Amino acid sequence: LLGLMQDRPLLISSLIEHAARFHPQVEIVSRLPESKDGALHRTNWAGVRREACKVAHALQQLGVAPGERVGTLAWNSYRHLALYFGVSGTGAVLHTVNPRLFPDQIDYIVNHAEDQVIFFDSSFAPLVAQLAPRLKTVKAFVCMCAREAMPAIDLPHLHCWEDLIGGQSEHFSWPEFDERTASSLCYTSGTTGNPKGVLYSHRSTLLHTLMELAPDTFGLSSRETVMLIVPMFHANAWGTPYAAAMVGCRLVLPGPHLDGQSVYTLMRDEKVTFSQGVPTVWLMLFQYLDAHPEIDPREMGIRRIGIGGAAVPRAMLERFETQFGAEVTQGWGMTETSPIGVISKLLPRHDGLPEEALTRVKLKQGRGVWGVDLKLVDDDGQVQPWDGEARGHLRVRGPWIASGYFKGEGGSPLDEEGYFSTGDVANIDPDGYLQLVDRAKDVIKSGGEWISSIDVENAAMGHPGVAEAAIIGVAHPKWQERPLLIVVPREGQAVDKASVLQFLATRIAKWWLPDDVVFVKELPHTATGKLLKTRLREQYKDYRLP
Ligand code: ADP
Repeated sequence: LLGLMQDRPLLISSLIEHAARFHPQVEIVSRLPESKDGALHRTNWAGVRREACKVAHALQQLGVAPGERVGTLAWNSYRHLALYFGVSGTGAVLHTVNPRLFPDQIDYIVNHAEDQVIFFDSSFAPLVAQLAPRLKTVKAFVCMCAREAMPAIDLPHLHCWEDLIGGQSEHFSWPEFDERTASSLCYTSGTTGNPKGVLYSHRSTLLHTLMELAPDTFGLSSRETVMLIVPMFHANAWGTPYAAAMVGCRLVLPGPHLDGQSVYTLMRDEKVTFSQGVPTVWLMLFQYLDAHPEIDPREMGIRRIGIGGAAVPRAMLERFETQFGAEVTQGWGMTETSPIGVISKLLPRHDGLPEEALTRVKLKQGRGVWGVDLKLVDDDGQVQPWDGEARGHLRVRGPWIASGYFKGEGGSPLDEEGYFSTGDVANIDPDGYLQLVDRAKDVIKSGGEWISSIDVENAAMGHPGVAEAAIIGVAHPKWQERPLLIVVPREGQAVDKASVLQFLATRIAKWWLPDDVVFVKELPHTATGKLLKTRLREQYKDYRLP
């Protein structure tokens, strides 16, 4: 017996229509890449809808059919936001390309996705000009800027946003189609092998968006001013552009300006209440504040910070709580999980526990949310208990988790029960809190036992003289591997090997203590701002431990 409820498809176009109807005047503030003097561009949800409709008309004019891919090489701005709704709304697929990838990878990704049009920020004009001859399927390039900001590049089929979009009609009648239709495409950074495409659907996106609004996850509402620091090319900015439209909150989009000073100023001036980003961007903000002790971070007024993509160091959590008066919500996820997998929020039974006990809970990656099934298995595929001790390979299943990669690349990532193998190693406690131990490929195995690099790095970053730390395994004749700690010292602070080791000695197991500590000016990061361990392992592969 089927239910008698309306079978309305869950479509992304409904989000922008809702935002424009119920929150038309709510501001969308952008620092545009072309603005030299830091001037801000202001529009609102009604304006973004108009722009999205114009985009839809322009795509028709360019001959983009439903299902075809439209690439972007762009920072966070209202134009990129309009593309989120305008491209997917027509039934075409928005392919957000990470401009920080190597040109060869971009070239591979665009050709693999068979992008028909590329929208790009003017700052990427030289990159686009360099790549263009190799992009076989692209029939039009659109520079996302005003006419007077058009870069002088020689590119066939080049359009200016203002000219192409400007004259189009402000009304578009969004088509209705199957909610399982592909909506957007995002490639994983592919630290090993070629990048693989994760193809989201309208249905997966809308279900994921609903989960992002729940009070026990990121709890967004119309009262919030959200600053999107996580780039719109990183797993759809964690789904927050869609969530913002669903609740009609105010959005602040920082463009390429992610340095500490810019982030601080924009947050303070625009009275941002909630923001999300990977730990690296928050470290840049901290470094700026370290150099400006006269600033009281509480004056920024930020109330909540969402952090994911890499583990939240204890020192970061404590600094946000004590110096900013802000609550930190950690999440674990991947491009393949849209990305919400688990979210760290306290339960009623934690009320009244001592601070230290609470901190330990908050430093775990989080609990499962409705829709995401979790499973831990050992090397032989045996299911592991949720006792907070047993470690296993993490597998996940749910309506916003990838079932495979675009064009079948990499075969099927699912096990016989339909769970996706994440490549992460974790434990889960009896309350359902998942703690990430490592990425399987970053695990350090010493004498057959795992050392959690996340735990050691987190502990090291609590040392007042340490700005950032990475640990890798280096070959050892007796123990197969022993840990080497690589540290970026905090500016103006004295720090040496002995003091780091002494600091760690009371915080981690004795046999986890690094055999050596080296100091460097900076650490390599991936295109999404995470420690690039493959590069470090390569660099230190012949390192002789004392
Ligand atoms: P990329 O490698 O392209 O940056 P993702 O953003 O999809 O791709 O990375 C997902 C991975 O990031 C996860 O598999 C996990 O290893 C790591 N990760 C994500 N969130 C956390 C977290 N809160 N703590 C520790 N690691 C995390």
